[in-house]
Amino acid sequence: MISQDIDIIYTPIPERIARLRELAYNLWWSWHPEARYLYEQIDPDLWEMIYHSPTRFLREVRQQSLKAAAENADFLQQYDSVMTAFDAYMSETDTWFARHYPEAKDEMIAYFSAEFGMHESLPIYSGGLGILSGDHVKEASDMGMPFVAVGFIYPQGYFRQRLDQSGWQLAEYPKLIFAESPAIPARTAEGEEVVIGVDLPGRTIYAKVYRMQIGRVTLLMMDTDIHPNTPQDRELSARLYGGDQEMRIAQEMVLGIGGVRALRKLGINPTVWHMNEGHSAFLVLELTRELVVQGIPFQRATEQVKQHTIFTTHTPVPAGNDAFPIDKIEKFFSGYWPQLGIDRDQFLSLAHQQQSWGPTFAMTVLAIQMSTRRNGVSKLHGHVARGMWNWLFPHTPRDEVPITSVTNGVHSASWLASEMRELFDKYLGSDWERNLEDPATWQAMTQVPNKDLWEARNKLRRRLIRFARERVQAHLKRNDPNASIPSILNDTTFTIGFARRFATYKRATLIFKDIDRMRNLLSRPDRPVQIIFAGKAHPADNPGKHFIQDIYRYSQEYGFNGRIVFLEEYDIAVGRAMVQGVDLWLNTPRRPYEASGTSGQKASLNGAPNASILDGWWPEAYNGKNGWAIGEEREYMNQDEQDWNDAQSFYHIFENQIIPLFYERDEDGIPNGWLEVSKQAIMTVAPQFSMRRMLADYLSELYIPAAMGESVA
Ligand SMILES: *Cc1c(COP(=O)(O)O)cnc(C)c1O
Repeated sequence: MISQDIDIIYTPIPERIARLRELAYNLWWSWHPEARYLYEQIDPDLWEMIYHSPTRFLREVRQQSLKAAAENADFLQQYDSVMTAFDAYMSETDTWFARHYPEAKDEMIAYFSAEFGMHESLPIYSGGLGILSGDHVKEASDMGMPFVAVGFIYPQGYFRQRLDQSGWQLAEYPKLIFAESPAIPARTAEGEEVVIGVDLPGRTIYAKVYRMQIGRVTLLMMDTDIHPNTPQDRELSARLYGGDQEMRIAQEMVLGIGGVRALRKLGINPTVWHMNEGHSAFLVLELTRELVVQGIPFQRATEQVKQHTIFTTHTPVPAGNDAFPIDKIEKFFSGYWPQLGIDRDQFLSLAHQQQSWGPTFAMTVLAIQMSTRRNGVSKLHGHVARGMWNWLFPHTPRDEVPITSVTNGVHSASWLASEMRELFDKYLGSDWERNLEDPATWQAMTQVPNKDLWEARNKLRRRLIRFARERVQAHLKRNDPNASIPSILNDTTFTIGFARRFATYKRATLIFKDIDRMRNLLSRPDRPVQIIFAGKAHPADNPGKHFIQDIYRYSQEYGFNGRIVFLEEYDIAVGRAMVQGVDLWLNTPRRPYEASGTSGQKASLNGAPNASILDGWWPEAYNGKNGWAIGEEREYMNQDEQDWNDAQSFYHIFENQIIPLFYERDEDGIPNGWLEVSKQAIMTVAPQFSMRRMLADYLSELYIPAAMGESVA
């Protein structure tokens, strides 16, 4: 491994713009487009080539380009204004948190997650869970929360998606060069680097702790690719969700147990421990062990730990919850449970779950039993989770199972297009961002002239289509250098976005159930429609890969070609372009398997309404005026019947409501009816489904009570 400390070689930076380096090491730039633009304009080609990473950029940029920038008055003005904003942000004392919880300033919330989606240049996330964690950390910084995040750094991250000529997904694992990332070794107060150890069968595994600065918040990441680990252990954090069950147990031990040890070594003593999904649940064992070592009996120790731990469950699909075979757990933990002062059976009962294939040690069970505050991620998901885990509370009726819900939201600044920001600045008043979670802030949207909103929406659609064309061309050229470039997509055509993980329950191909009807729907000359698809299937999920291939094949068929495109490599950059540029977001999961979903929130914030099955967050948001509901709010015994009914509903609503409304124009060509829905989407979704509102809820319902050690009523 290249050590961060020795050989970072940078192009010398002229003094006048020397703080570009400091800025590169604070991911504040990842939600401030004007900061990223500083780098981009110095050398736009290089910026694309190194995929928008400021630290890589500064290593590779030519000195001459930096010199030119340092002598360009326009650049210097932008530079000064970005630096002033950055300094103001970093030194702000009148933060949201300080205003609301002055008495809690000495608390510390530790947030553990297996993945963090901060930016496209840092492939340490796979999908929704990671994006949510990334948004969570950014907003914690914006609000000035006492907050530290803990995760892994994956040198090979999640895979990069390539489609071959038949549309079959291939996975590539490009190596993230650590020294070129904005992570630096974490150091103790005495300046020592931090390495933690966790005992595994017959050996100790070590992890070096790195830190990444996210605005005002620190993200700690562990890396096992260090000496003296065995080659196998060095691979442990190579890939997100790679490897077999033993590797996964070891990974989760490093995350949960190692994460606690890393915090302690750094002198950070959280009063709230938040497990974002079960991957980090071993942390409760380590917290208990710490107390037992101090002489507190196991039972009392667990009571103490539970008061301060919070668990968020994300998956309503049973197979998505980690559960390990008992023999593997015995192998890894037989040396650990004596340190807790308990025996094997007591230990296994902490997480016992009987599965169809035998008894297991289940991470969700461990997390639920060892926390007093637990939540799902939408109201509907809370209800589903209470049903799923009712068996852990045998004498409690389902509705009283102690699992609450906090509905997910999105970090507005990360997903908002600058064109929309300009509109908000102009019509909502300069203070809108400070009060963005307050619905009253958004009332003034009704004052925005339709002409201005339509202009912004058209600009965003055109930009997305340019982006999509470039992506598709690059893809075709890679598979065949002589490929002719087809003419695809149209700047003024109604554009639908669909991007998801291609798990089968997300039903990406639902809308092709009646293929002729679909072809007709897209190709009416007076009201054409186009759809941009993107999404990855898990590398081991062949049914998911078949879905992708199906859509890829449709995109080349008569009646669909040019109107349906599939973009490779769904990541934060693709997501951002899509949620900003489409006219409508489409979501067709099989209810009730969507825990929350957030893409429709990002699109709505940008004025692109959501049309979705009433699953996840949508039943809470949909009011009949701010988007469309597909299918019925009911349960089915038969999946074929459910799919059929939902598809019929999709066709009906699109043919009779959505598409006609988009093409109904006044004499100036403006779709006033459509723009009313767009405004309603912004006004209802922007405050209520913001990460700000979400964290305000976490604070009032979970974090602050846990910090104070309040017992649950
Ligand atoms: C928002 C986002 C997700 C999660 O969105 P869902 O609506 O939960 O599917 C996943 N990947 C990327 C790149 C995103 O931007």
